[in-house]
Amino acid sequence: MQDKTLYFETLHPGYGQYFEIDKMLYEQQTDSWTLSIFENRRFGRVMALNGAIQTTERDEFVYHEMLTHVPLLAHASAKKVLIIGGGDGAMLREVVKHRALERIVMVEIDPQVVSLCQTWFPNHSAGAFDDPRVELVIADGMAFIANCSEQFDVIISDCTDPVGPGEVLFSSDFYAGCKRCLTQDGIFVAQNGVPFMQLESLQDTVRRMSSYTRECWFFTAAVPTYIGGSMAFAWATDDIEVRRLSLATLEARFNEAGISTRYYTPALHQASFALPHYVEQAIRSA
Ligand code: SAM
Repeated sequence: MQDKTLYFETLHPGYGQYFEIDKMLYEQQTDSWTLSIFENRRFGRVMALNGAIQTTERDEFVYHEMLTHVPLLAHASAKKVLIIGGGDGAMLREVVKHRALERIVMVEIDPQVVSLCQTWFPNHSAGAFDDPRVELVIADGMAFIANCSEQFDVIISDCTDPVGPGEVLFSSDFYAGCKRCLTQDGIFVAQNGVPFMQLESLQDTVRRMSSYTRECWFFTAAVPTYIGGSMAFAWATDDIEVRRLSLATLEARFNEAGISTRYYTPALHQASFALPHYVEQAIRSA
């Protein structure tokens, strides 16, 4: 369905979106993906992998701020963070804003995503790869976790959808490995698709993750290019109080951290854990 001027996303059978391609900037096969980068007048530069929109210049801040600042401000004393995926570098940009962190490891399967995004999306990483606390590992996230003997306070899975190379990052083995690599009060978060479109994937996560952590829940944010409603982010931890922090606590932590954001606010953080009834039911019946 691709033609010269339109890019049709092929993620959800029977329903989709298209972008006008003002200019195709790059389209090649990398080791893992068919990677496309093009210019669109509404969203700026857009990157797609295997026909699924990954990131755009204009709305990436919603996703990256929520998947970073919600777990890091909930944890409050995190020193070590592990990012799985996230080759575009924007998750790293948000994570390095937390000055109290001492070590940040990012594990990305495809080095070409990292280098192409540094060329075409320089504001995504905004120099974060040069932060001395950052170690970039080029590897499959599942293989890394299986061999990892280190523990992290927060693990962020900034992965593609559960098809192709990203599928293992939704597996029971991956969740078991992440649990082993979390500190006792550690928090795991992951992009988990749009519940209205991908409810089974959300239920799979609950079924698999609930074997390993006391709590598996979700928080949400509406990201315009992830179509079909709000996106869900998986939240798994043994500390069941940490998603029920008061607004005053979150505000105090946010102010102390001195982080500037465009989307995240402490009030949104708190509200993001409130889920629609059909999603709550899906979690409970998983
Ligand atoms: N959704 C994000 C956004 O809004 O900007 C972007 C997602 S990020 C581009 C997803 C990354 O996960 C890609 O760079 C992809 O190469 C990486 N990835 C997929 N499967 C992986 C795996 N098994 N191990 C490590 N990285 C993986």
